[in-house]
Amino acid sequence: MDPLRIDAITLRELRIPLVTPFETSGWREEEKNCIIVEMKSQHLSGYGECAVTSGPWYGPETITSAWHVMQDYFVPTVLGKKFSSTNDVVESFSSVRGNSMAKASFDMAFYDLAAKKEGVSLSKFLGGTKDKIESGVSVGIQKNSRQLIETITDYLRDGYRRIKIKIKPGKDMEPVSTFREHFPDLMLMADANGAYKSSDFQSLLKLDNFDLLMIEQPFGWDDLVEHANLQRAIKTSICLDESVSSVNELKSALALGSCRILNLKPARVGGITVSRYFKEDIVTPEFKLNPDGTITVPTGPGLGVDVFHEKLLKYTVRTEHFSS
Ligand SMILES: [Mg+2]
Repeated sequence: MDPLRIDAITLRELRIPLVTPFETSGWREEEKNCIIVEMKSQHLSGYGECAVTSGPWYGPETITSAWHVMQDYFVPTVLGKKFSSTNDVVESFSSVRGNSMAKASFDMAFYDLAAKKEGVSLSKFLGGTKDKIESGVSVGIQKNSRQLIETITDYLRDGYRRIKIKIKPGKDMEPVSTFREHFPDLMLMADANGAYKSSDFQSLLKLDNFDLLMIEQPFGWDDLVEHANLQRAIKTSICLDESVSSVNELKSALALGSCRILNLKPARVGGITVSRYFKEDIVTPEFKLNPDGTITVPTGPGLGVDVFHEKLLKYTVRTEHFSS
C-alpha cells in the first residue's frame, strides 16, 4: 500500500440515547457515550470509535481521559505524517502505556482509510470470508424473573439465539435457574463484570449446574489467580473480558489457566460498533438483524457503511479539529 498522509483529524464526543437503560453489576447507562475519530487523507475520511464508558467502570479509561490522550499525544504524533500500515500507526504510540481503547480508535480510523484507499470492504481488507455473522444479545440486570423472561422472549422473537445475561452476587442463581426452566436448550452465558470476591466462590460453583456456555469475568479485572482457582474447580468455561487488554495480559492468563475463552471486543477490531442498542444509528445503512439471528457483513469500501453526517452532528456534544 502507498503511504497515506494524515492531513486532518477531528475528534467528536457523542451522546446517543439508548433504547433501554443498560445495567450491569457495576454501572447503569441511559445513553451511549463515545468519541468518534475522523481521520482525513486527501478526499478520504476514515472513522474509528473509541468505545469508552463515561466513567472508569468497564476499564480504567473514560471519555475525558481518552480525549486528553488523543488530543495531547496521538494527534501531534500522527498529524501531517505518512503511514503505510496500521502497524506503523500503533507503533508510533508505543511510548504511551495502556489507553488501549484510545489507541484502538486511531487504529480503526486508519484501517477504514486504508481499506477505502484500496477500494475494498474492511472485511475483504482483513481477509474475511463470511458474508454473515451470528449475533448474540447482551441483557442487562432485570428487576425480576418475570421481566427477564419477557425481555428474552422478545429477543428470541427478533431472531437472537445466543443470550448473555448480566449477573452479580445475590442476582445470579435466581435469574440463571429461571432462564433454564423456561429455555432448557438455549445458549446462555452469564457476565458478572468483575462483581464477585473470593468469599463468593461457593455461589459461583453452584452456577456450574446450568449448562452455561461460559461465566464471564466473575472476579476483579486484576485478579487472574482467583479466576484460575475457579477454572480448576468448575467444568463451565471461564471467559475473561476486562482482565485482558493486551497480548501480554492474555499470555499471563493462559499460563495461569485463568480462562478458556476470551471476549474479544468487536470495537477493537471491527470498526464502528453499532447495533439494536441505539434509538438512532449514526451510520447508513443501519445494521439490521436478519430473521435467522445473523448480521450481514457490509461490502462497501472501508467499514462498508457511511457516516450519516447530520445524525453525527445531532449527537455531538464536543468537537475539536486539527489540521496540518
Ligand atoms: Mg463483559
